[in-house]
Amino acid sequence: MSPAPAHARKLVLVLADGLRADTARDYMGYLQALHEAGRASWSQLRCELPSLSRPLYATLISGRRPVDHGIVANGQSGQRCGETLFDALAAHGLRSAVAAYHWFYELLAGEVFDPLRHRHAALPQQGVVGASWYFEDEYPDSHLLADAEHLRALHAPELLFVHPMGPDHAGHQHGGESAAYALRARRLDMQLAHALPHWHAQGYDVLFTSDHGMHADRMHGGALSVERDVPIVWLPCDGGERADRVALPDSQLGVRAFVLERLTGQRG
Ligand SMILES: [Zn+2]
Repeated sequence: MSPAPAHARKLVLVLADGLRADTARDYMGYLQALHEAGRASWSQLRCELPSLSRPLYATLISGRRPVDHGIVANGQSGQRCGETLFDALAAHGLRSAVAAYHWFYELLAGEVFDPLRHRHAALPQQGVVGASWYFEDEYPDSHLLADAEHLRALHAPELLFVHPMGPDHAGHQHGGESAAYALRARRLDMQLAHALPHWHAQGYDVLFTSDHGMHADRMHGGALSVERDVPIVWLPCDGGERADRVALPDSQLGVRAFVLERLTGQRG
């Protein structure tokens, strides 16, 4: 392990599950307010295929396509996805804390998640010093954000990874063009309006994105724009000065390298 470089920063990565690019743009007024004020850089990505959660979780943390890392279906329980962002940060001496769906535990630990044993299991070998894994799709985003903030305050990690499920869950129940789906995005925006100023005040930059979109037919997995196009928004803690100068990744494969570079100054 090499020591953390002097310019190392802190970052919150928010992965809103199943959030379409157009839904984020149209209904997330607080994030848009920061963008309008020049304090955020806003773009969108076309997710890799298949546009399914477990394959794309592995893509986001490994920087590789599903057909390359081998996690290509949601049913691949307990399979590890190889070297990840968390391993790379740990190699730089940087620590992470994670509040995320239990599939992330499986991708990192390489074993099937057991709620009674693993609910708060840290993964110190991968630099994950604190964790809270949820295992019901209806777990409220508000509780998840509170879990994440608890871990941040307790561990002061360089990376805080926050993974709310609300949009995906509402989309599967009501479809990607329903009032209920839009409402979940509006509520997440309001919850972020509570958390983000606090994270910024603590010196954390924030990167906000999603794994995949949502069709009106209550599913995703295919190649249509509504299933693939997701937001990516950069919200640095010192506002406008740095928002414009950051080149956001133009592919989902670049998210891992972007986070790594922000935290270490190096891409590898
Ligand atoms: Zn889903």
